[in-house]
Amino acid sequence: MTAQRSEGPFRVGRSRTGLGLFATDTIAKGAFIIEYVGPRLSNEEADERRTARYLFEVNSRWTIDGSPYWNTARYLNHSCRPNAEAYETRGRIRFRAKQRIKAGDEITFHYGRDYFEKIIRPLGCKCQRCGSVEA
Ligand SMILES: [Zn+2]
Repeated sequence: MTAQRSEGPFRVGRSRTGLGLFATDTIAKGAFIIEYVGPRLSNEEADERRTARYLFEVNSRWTIDGSPYWNTARYLNHSCRPNAEAYETRGRIRFRAKQRIKAGDEITFHYGRDYFEKIIRPLGCKCQRCGSVEA
């Protein structure tokens, strides 16, 4: 696996659907994990994008374009039974542990009902809970 610059108790590694973010140390329930970073777009600008991939709506006005490679949080995969959750503080999106996460566990969050219905469900959800065995 390629070594990635790491700013927290996690690393990028192979998951069942490509790349994912994995804990390298125990993360306590409620602990901050990582921030979702990237250029800020108005929601109107975001709506004009051809793809919703890596777009994260912060609030009724702003969306973060998380596609830059330096946004390590872009490697967080969706799960229907996630161990992390997103929260907004002062216009920024951060993730924290919903439960205690053990070293080696993949860190996941729920992408939200809209994204799930529009983009994930048509392809079939491949999370640990729903996932098909074939990659
Ligand atoms: Zn699922």
